[in-house]
Amino acid sequence: MDLYEYQARDLFENYDVPVLQGIVATSSAEAERAAEKLGGTVIVKAQVKVGGRGKAGGVKLAHSPAEAAAAAKDILGLDIKGHTVRKVMVAEGADIAEEYYFSIMLDRTQRQYLAMLSREGGMDIEKLAKERPEALVRRNFSPLEGLTDSIAREIAEDAGFPADDVEKLVPVLQKLYETYVGEDATLVEVNPLVKTNSGELLAIDGKMTLDDNADFRHPEHSELVDHNTTDPLELKAQMMGLNYVKLDGSVGVIGNGAGLVMSTLDVVAYAGEEFPGSPKPANFLDIGGGADAEIMANGLEVILADEQVQSILVNVFGGITACDEVANGIIQAYKILHTQGIEPKPLVVRLDGNNAEEGRKILDDANLPNLQREDTMDGAARKAAELASQADQNK
Ligand code: GDP
Ligand code: MN
Repeated sequence: MDLYEYQARDLFENYDVPVLQGIVATSSAEAERAAEKLGGTVIVKAQVKVGGRGKAGGVKLAHSPAEAAAAAKDILGLDIKGHTVRKVMVAEGADIAEEYYFSIMLDRTQRQYLAMLSREGGMDIEKLAKERPEALVRRNFSPLEGLTDSIAREIAEDAGFPADDVEKLVPVLQKLYETYVGEDATLVEVNPLVKTNSGELLAIDGKMTLDDNADFRHPEHSELVDHNTTDPLELKAQMMGLNYVKLDGSVGVIGNGAGLVMSTLDVVAYAGEEFPGSPKPANFLDIGGGADAEIMANGLEVILADEQVQSILVNVFGGITACDEVANGIIQAYKILHTQGIEPKPLVVRLDGNNAEEGRKILDDANLPNLQREDTMDGAARKAAELASQADQNK
């Protein structure tokens, strides 16, 4: 889960990372009161889970509460890269002398952590990494060792900081590392980490990604979930432990494995162009390795709760989960849904891979209403698109 800047700021504060005070506001009146409370110059910042807010007009300095109210009025409702701004953070203004970049992330390919530091922060870091890679220090370190004094010092020295700054930086980098480990994050990024004119270091923008696999260790993280921006169907799927993303079309898609589901979305979109109304995928749903009856029923339930859905494509390539298990799962899922009074929409099933023949026979013998079988992915996608198109035309 990605966090909002204000949530990252709060966590940083818990670990004694130097930050400035910030107050969240959802209206310009609230922003005005927040600015009064903080006093002096404040900065009003859009709270959206994307970078580049500054360039998009989502970060504004305000020298008085009235200016803060005006800034909030401009920023609230703004669309930043497809994210609507519903909250701003009113933060104490920093008197910035220099802007740096620092991040720690999980480096899966190296099976290590990766720290990156640059004296040229503030700007687009991808651009810096590409155009002047020598200005960005990259250092892998072992999770077992952690960000020790000597590693932190090395990183700061390699980045070209003068000795005085190195001494100040080391504890800040280490506190950010403590935040990263303590919260089970996969990313902590501070851009910019600034030095003020009085020589103080401050993290004035924070980005964090928490590792959902560690949720069981952090019951308190559930409070960080933003239910307002999460689609209700996605929320339902999340509570069922499904890997689901709502899309805008009418063909529901279920598959096993993220790669297969992604390519199924492409094939459905492509096939859909042949039919009136050009039906498109309604969702991404990966049931992973476990295609048992309950998971299948849960998946179908979520997809059927989407009113836009007109047909459903189940695309399974049997591997560890064999196709006969999947077929039985589908039959059981029909029964479960039936007892819940949920009527299935036309279902197209393609089974291939491990025990495909057995799976196909089980489905054929079951003779389920509204279910059609196709042997190829293209054929199944075309059929599902055609059914969705027909249903849409008949509406
Ligand atoms: P981003 O554009 O989404 O990364 O948002 P940031 O929080 O990083 O803000 C963008 C830029 O606004 C920073 O690089 C700073 O130059 C500037 N900025 C942010 N906070 C302050 C502040 O308190 N005082 C001043 N003077 N500038 C700030
Ligand atoms: Mn930033």
